[in-house]
Amino acid sequence: MSTATLTIDLDALAANWRALDRLTDGGTQTAAVVKADGYGLGVGPVARALAGAGARRFFVAVAEEGAALRRALGPGPQICVLGGHMAGDTEMIGGADLTPMLNSLDQITRQFEGLPGHPFGIQLDTGMNRLGMEADEWAAVAELVLPLGPELIMSHLACADDPDDPMNAQQLATFHALTDGTGVPRSLAATGGILLGPSYHFDLTRPGIGLYGGRPFEDARPVVRLSLPVIQTRTVEPGEAVGYGCTWTAQGPATIATLSGGYADGILRALSNRATFCAGDIPCPIAGRVSMDLITVDVTHLPEIPARLDLICAAQGVDDLADQAGTIGYEVLTSLGNRYTRHYEGSGA
Ligand SMILES: *Cc1c(COP(=O)(O)O)cnc(C)c1O
Repeated sequence: MSTATLTIDLDALAANWRALDRLTDGGTQTAAVVKADGYGLGVGPVARALAGAGARRFFVAVAEEGAALRRALGPGPQICVLGGHMAGDTEMIGGADLTPMLNSLDQITRQFEGLPGHPFGIQLDTGMNRLGMEADEWAAVAELVLPLGPELIMSHLACADDPDDPMNAQQLATFHALTDGTGVPRSLAATGGILLGPSYHFDLTRPGIGLYGGRPFEDARPVVRLSLPVIQTRTVEPGEAVGYGCTWTAQGPATIATLSGGYADGILRALSNRATFCAGDIPCPIAGRVSMDLITVDVTHLPEIPARLDLICAAQGVDDLADQAGTIGYEVLTSLGNRYTRHYEGSGA
């Protein structure tokens, strides 16, 4: 097989959902965030496995993702759209039975004119200044909107990955001020917010990255393995260079393995000359630049050359790789391209 293999452990994914669910008490529901094609891992199998684990409410970024998710899940689970009700989306929101989180007065008007009586939620901005209604907008419409029975009022934390950041408590206080006494179910916490403790949990949590094995959920089980086939190996003499720009030079006699996969597969070019592949638990450094479809790796020290080398595996998780690229696990996962052979493991596969 000449393409890289992305293996997704659906049992680990389900176990991570259950573990995050156990971090909140019985009165708090745990949803699942599956935007961006299930953080790059394939929304259909991912969402079905999470539904199997017990998730009844899902979040996506935009209506198109919601429609695709509805096709994968069928009727029943609630699908919430974080981007709300955008112009042109009315038919899709109605047809796929999506629940938009309304972010502005424009969206509220569009919803109530286009889909009267259809379920909706409200998103408030509590300081991140990204999405949701500000306090004054909310004050202007709350009396009109609350009797129409929103499914949920939500907001999002800007700094929840750092428990010591004073922004967390500040946003929590703002959220209380905007929503106390409304009687509507509330949601503030994503993965980081769940770990901040019970005062952040409210009625519903919305974990994403923790499900997929990423920080800040340190206890997560790894979900992804990325394995690249070796196409060719060659011996390189001392002083010879490897790859575009000749950025790596052999110090002694070296063996270079050329792997099938590159930045077109989401293996970031920033990993050039920095990241390591794994042969089991033996690290093998990238030698030279990552090119579009190929990567060269120094395997001089291996007793024998395996058929494949792993870039994400038990010995090197998504966040380890992210550190080497100077980015975050979220970007590593969602960059993974579509050229892989995706292999789903576990009872939900
Ligand atoms: C992406 C997102 C989430 C999930 O966040 P994680 O950090 O991946 O757990 C939850 N809520 C909103 C509004 C989001 O945009």
